[in-house]
Amino acid sequence: MIDLIEDKKEHRKRRKEAKRKDRSKYKKSVRKKHGQRLLEESKQRVENEILRRGRVVSIFSEQILIYSYGKNFTCTLRGVLKKEQLEARNLVVVGDFVHFARSDASEGAIWQIEQRKSVLTKMSKKGQKEQLIAANLDQVIITVATKEPPFDLAYLDRVLIATKRGRMKPLVIINKADLGFTKEIEEWVSLYQSLNIPIIQTSCKTGEGIEALKKKMRRKASVFVGLSGAGKSSLINTIMETTLPTQTVSEKSKQGRHTTTRSSLLRLKFGGFCIDTPGIQEFGLGKITKQELDMFFSEIAQRGRKCKFLNCTHSHEPHCAVKEACNDGRLSTLRLTSYFSLLQLVE
Ligand code: GDP
Ligand code: ZN
Repeated sequence: MIDLIEDKKEHRKRRKEAKRKDRSKYKKSVRKKHGQRLLEESKQRVENEILRRGRVVSIFSEQILIYSYGKNFTCTLRGVLKKEQLEARNLVVVGDFVHFARSDASEGAIWQIEQRKSVLTKMSKKGQKEQLIAANLDQVIITVATKEPPFDLAYLDRVLIATKRGRMKPLVIINKADLGFTKEIEEWVSLYQSLNIPIIQTSCKTGEGIEALKKKMRRKASVFVGLSGAGKSSLINTIMETTLPTQTVSEKSKQGRHTTTRSSLLRLKFGGFCIDTPGIQEFGLGKITKQELDMFFSEIAQRGRKCKFLNCTHSHEPHCAVKEACNDGRLSTLRLTSYFSLLQLVE
């Protein structure tokens, strides 16, 4: 009899526990479904031309500038979203696709924010907090120079990993081609071309590669990233030449180069957007996982499976398949050097 009561108690306890767990799951899924339903409803309203679809090009405090089918609109968040924004940071960022209701010819209220396909983040200087800079960018244009500043392979690899992490595509620009190429860069170019990373050599001085770069930027949203002095501003100026130069100039003079890290999307005359990010010359990668590292250096990871020791670091161990492959030229020592420098970032 006592056993039976104990059993019942135990059963009740377990049921309560299961219910508690169940309920939280239920709540979460309901919330997700609710969000999806709102988004679907909003899309329907866009189709029925009750709402308009547009893209956030800049944010100034409460005022959100939206570009939609050839027109600019200054919008604010509708009430319920304002409340949400108090709880969730980055509710709306530059590059977001939004649905808004027009209140007059140039103003409106944002009703819904679409899910982001990609995000560009930056590590904060203090600590390792990620800051969201922009959303839905297609490609990161990693700008390096042949000289001044010196070609830095580890930097390039760090940005390539960050690009992949943010679900964007990379495009490497080797600028200042007029200054000539070192052997290391030439080796690097052929190596990375064989790894299917698109590379364009450019020169703002001679105009080499500029048309090819424009073609790659057409109908895409891009961001330039690179060490200071690599030539990002010069490239943007060359590309934007016929594209509303006053907008860029006034944006810059309004904000002041050193006072803000706010970004804005610049519209390209030949179609597409380019992000202007004063203050983010480089974006830190922070820590990476071993999995990310192995994915990026897949040829090293693959070779490493043949090393004698399971946890071989490919630095001093005997019978290391990676070192052997480097010695007889089947693997690039350039890649291994970069691998070692990134290994230090593995958490
Ligand atoms: P950012 O810091 O990456 O924006 O670099 P800037 O665009 O300010 O360029 C830094 C310096 O490099 C400037 O003095 C430019 O004139 C120079 N520069 C930019 N592009 C080229 C190029 O293709 N060839 C040469 N020789 N110099 C360049
Ligand atoms: Zn090894």
